[in-house]
Amino acid sequence: MESYQFDNLTITLNKEGSREFSKVSYPIRYGRYAEIKTPEYIFQYNLKGEIKYIQGRGQGWPHPAEWLKRTVANDWIYYWAGGYSSVYDFFGEHYIPCLSYPSNPISGFNPFEDSAVSSAIEACQELLAQLASLTSGSLSQGLRDFLVLVTESDADTLRLRSHRLHKLIGGRVTVLPPDTRHVDYEVIPIIVADGCLYNCGFCRVKTGQDFSPRAKRDILRQIRELEDFYAQDLRNYNAIFLGHHDALCAGKELLEFAAERAYEVFGFERSNLRGTYLFLFGSVDSLINSEDALFDLLEGLPFSTYINIGLESADTATLAALRKPLSVETVGEAFARMLDINRRHEKIEVTANFVFGGDLPRSHMSSFLDLARNRLDRFYSKGAIYLSPLIDGRTRDKEAKRGMLRRFYEIKTLSPLPTFLYLIQRL
Ligand code: SF4
Repeated sequence: MESYQFDNLTITLNKEGSREFSKVSYPIRYGRYAEIKTPEYIFQYNLKGEIKYIQGRGQGWPHPAEWLKRTVANDWIYYWAGGYSSVYDFFGEHYIPCLSYPSNPISGFNPFEDSAVSSAIEACQELLAQLASLTSGSLSQGLRDFLVLVTESDADTLRLRSHRLHKLIGGRVTVLPPDTRHVDYEVIPIIVADGCLYNCGFCRVKTGQDFSPRAKRDILRQIRELEDFYAQDLRNYNAIFLGHHDALCAGKELLEFAAERAYEVFGFERSNLRGTYLFLFGSVDSLINSEDALFDLLEGLPFSTYINIGLESADTATLAALRKPLSVETVGEAFARMLDINRRHEKIEVTANFVFGGDLPRSHMSSFLDLARNRLDRFYSKGAIYLSPLIDGRTRDKEAKRGMLRRFYEIKTLSPLPTFLYLIQRL
C-alpha cells in the first residue's frame, strides 16, 4: 500500500479489502483497489482505474455507513442501511441495494432524489480535472499509471465500456439470480442460452425468444473477450453467472464447458478472493428433466453452485393468473427435486422464487406454505425461498408496501426454509 498527499487529496494505491464476501453491518470493500480521499468524499477505484464506490464524509451525506456503488454495467446503486431495523430478516443482508433504475422495490425509499447523492456522482467527475493537472508534476510510475487510468475513465468512457460488455455477451442481463447477493452481485456474465421455455404472461424480464442454447465457439469467444474486458480487475472476481433465464436447460455438456473454460481463462485460482461461485437460473422442467449426472458434475467442479428456479406458485388459480403454463403437480415435483438435490449435494444449493403481493388469489401464499410444510417437518437452513414482489418502481402507495412487509414477515415466520424478498437487479 502506498499513500500520497496533494493539498486536500490523499491518494492510496493497492489497498487490500476483505478476501471473502461477508455479511456485515458496516461498509466493506473486497479485493484490491485504490482510494482518493477528499474532505467531502471517499472515492474508490477498481484496478482499471474506474470509479466503483463513493462514500460521503460531510454533514449532508444521508448516513455515514452508507455508500454508492457503480456496477460494471454502469448503474449506480445506493447501499441503504434502512435504519438497520429488520433489513437482515427481509433480505438476508445488512444493506438494501437501492437501484437507480425501475425495478420491484418494496421499501419506498429513493436515495437518488437526495441532492447529496447526485452531487457525489458529479463530484467524482469534477475531480478528474484536478487529477489530470497532477500528472504534469514529478510522480512515481505507479501513481502516474493510476492517474492516467482514472482520468481516461470519464462518464462517457464508462458508458461506452458498459455498452461493450453488453455487446460482447449479446445484450443486457435483465435479471440476476437472487443468490448472487452472496457475492454482492459481483459476477462475470457468460451467456450459454437465450430465451426461456414458458414466456409467461406476467414476466417483465423475459426476452420473448424461445429457448436456444449458444454454440460452444460463441461461449469460448465470450470468455476470451470478457478476459480482455475485465483486464487487470479480473483478479477481483471469483464468480460467474451463466445466463440467461434457464441455463440449466442448456445441459451438462455446455455447463461443464462454460464453467471449466471460465475457471481456467479467468485464472480464478489466482483471484484476490477466496472461494469460487457459479450462479444460474433453471426452470421447473429443466430441474425435473436434468439427470443426476448433471448435479454430480456440478458438485465436482471447483465452484460452489447456486441454481435458482422460478416456481412462482403452487396454486392453480395463481398459475393461471400469471399465465405460467405449468400445473401444480409439476411445481410440486420440482420442489421435491430441489429438496432432494440440496440434501444430496454439499456444494450445490437450489433455491426457488415465488411471486408475492399484487392482486394474486388469496390461495397463493397458503398453497406455498402447504407445499413447504407438507414436505418438511422442521426448519432447514439450505434451499432459500425468494418472494418476488409484483410491484414496479412507480408504485408509491406506502401503506400497501407496509402491508406487504407485514405479510412477508408472517410468511417468513411460518416457512420451514430461509425466506427473503427478491429485489430484481440487472447487469
Ligand atoms: S418467469 Fe422465467 S420462464 Fe417465465 S417468462 Fe420470465 S424468464 Fe421466462
